[in-house]
Amino acid sequence: MGVGFDNLTMDEALSSALSLMEEKRAAYVVTPNPEIVMLCRENPNAASAVKDADLVLADGIGIIYGAKILGTPLKQKLPGIDFAQALFAKMAQAEKTLFLLGAKPGVAESAAQALQERFKGLKIVGTNDGYFSDDEPIVEKINAVSPDLLLVCLGAPKQELWMQKNAPALKVGLMAGLGGSLDVFAGVVERAPEAWQKLGLEWLYRLKKEPGRIKRMSNLPKFGFAVLGRRMGIGDK
Ligand code: UDP
Repeated sequence: MGVGFDNLTMDEALSSALSLMEEKRAAYVVTPNPEIVMLCRENPNAASAVKDADLVLADGIGIIYGAKILGTPLKQKLPGIDFAQALFAKMAQAEKTLFLLGAKPGVAESAAQALQERFKGLKIVGTNDGYFSDDEPIVEKINAVSPDLLLVCLGAPKQELWMQKNAPALKVGLMAGLGGSLDVFAGVVERAPEAWQKLGLEWLYRLKKEPGRIKRMSNLPKFGFAVLGRRMGIGDK
């Protein structure tokens, strides 16, 4: 459907990410969900930013079902937030550095504190909120500490476009676009309980907590129809 996912297990995704980090060329990871796949079909700039990513991980159960229905099954769902936490654990062992960019003022700092307590050894070398108008001073601030990993949490597709545009100027190991993750790490937004996650209903829990997301989520049934249409050979592409 226009988005090429990497078919990886969590362990494989982690080892790819660690190798890319060593290459230090500001490669980036994206984790599209069905909403983002639909957005890419309407927005060529978003599609290009996702296409240029070095790792494209299947964020959520909708992608897994879609891929299965289309006869190109993926090994496992790799929610961005789980991927990030598993990567932090590996980075902590190697005393790697992390910069957190995004969310409302104060949130990245709280997230940094919480992560530093949870992942002993992980070095958080900088934070910045996600409400800035000029990229240049932000790029300078990040380059001054040259982190191994830069989390870019500006929501989709802003974060994907930001990573694509700024990659050439950034001195970082790897970047990952992770939406609302800083809000979760900081405890501002609660993640669905594990039972809901296991049932593939994280999206429903999120809707219950933030009913304002209903408009964005209207893309979910559209995604379902697009998958089925394509499966039956009546899709547009
Ligand atoms: N955000 C930001 N800058 C912006 C717009 C959004 O830093 O200009 C942040 C916002 O505060 C939130 C995150 O980006 O922390 C987007 O969260 P959301 O849950 O909407 O992300 P998604 O569903 O795209 O993963």
